[in-house]
Amino acid sequence: MSLSKKDIISILKANGNQIPSFMEKACKIREKSTITFSKNVFIPLTNVCRNDCGYCTFRQDPQDTKANLLMNHPEVLKIIHHGHEQGCQEALFTFGEHADENPLVQEALHKIGFETILDYLYVLCDETLNKTALLPHSNPGILKKSELKKLREVNASMGLMLETTSERIMKTVAHKNSPGKDPKKRIKTIENAGKLKIPFTTGLLIGIGETIEERAESLLEIRRIQNKYGHIQEIIIQNFRAKPGITMADYPEPPLSDIIRTVAAARILFPDCGVQVPPNLNPETSPIFLITGADDWGGVSPITPDHVNPEAPWPEVKELKYITENLGFELEERLPVYEKFRSPDFLGDKILERINR
Ligand code: SF4
Repeated sequence: MSLSKKDIISILKANGNQIPSFMEKACKIREKSTITFSKNVFIPLTNVCRNDCGYCTFRQDPQDTKANLLMNHPEVLKIIHHGHEQGCQEALFTFGEHADENPLVQEALHKIGFETILDYLYVLCDETLNKTALLPHSNPGILKKSELKKLREVNASMGLMLETTSERIMKTVAHKNSPGKDPKKRIKTIENAGKLKIPFTTGLLIGIGETIEERAESLLEIRRIQNKYGHIQEIIIQNFRAKPGITMADYPEPPLSDIIRTVAAARILFPDCGVQVPPNLNPETSPIFLITGADDWGGVSPITPDHVNPEAPWPEVKELKYITENLGFELEERLPVYEKFRSPDFLGDKILERINR
């Protein structure tokens, strides 16, 4: 659907009388009566990160005792095998961006025979494919086209949150210490993934100080990329949570009405993509997002915590099933790559062979 910036802003600024009509419109656009989720294991290869976002609880200083410089090989294999035994279908590799710029991480990599963290990631993804029924989905941060091309061979899909297109936020507490959050670099990575036809997950982080106009621009930028490459499988609308210990602990969280408006705008603007709101960040309010057109719960793990939001446990699958069915929908497990991308056009030989097997 073609919407102008003015149209999006009118949804994002809708008043209480107008919101229900946008919710209804969003629900009509969602064709499916199924709500999907992916059963995964979360593998945080390192919590060292070259960025230092004002809202992050995941990152640790390399010298800190809480730092996990590098998960060792047996540790990773143990998680993926456990996931395999529990019937998981996705190995989610999420970790700090360009951690190997740090000498301590470099040293840890050299000790196990790797030059870069991406070389290590490639081998782990390959082993996941060779030894288990899981399909890798990696979120290593901004990447060069050549790096994306290599990882495409062993990933069913990949992801990078755009978060926001606002250059202004680069000067605020949210992103001033995070060179990797430069919107230009993130857009380039998402576009390169499009050129390489990598099924991709992206989305917005809302409530980090962006204006409504900037939020509309961010949605429209993803739409522009999707119109050009068609590789985006889902849009995540993630809401900022003020947590103790983060630099932005005293910042206001986006109100529920704001999340609802943004989910409605995303659904109306992206009829061709999944729309997801992380249920563990919204345990009390998640049903309302299904009523606003969301159609995916994202990754849920029966065995590993959400290391990025450790204070927010995943809901149990039976809980998701209850919420979903209570609203008259069916809960359906999906692979980390959406059905429409399961073709030689979008997947490497090894991934296709693995899915068919
Ligand atoms: S939010 Fe992500 S990119 Fe930012 S500091 Fe944390 S781990 Fe790094």
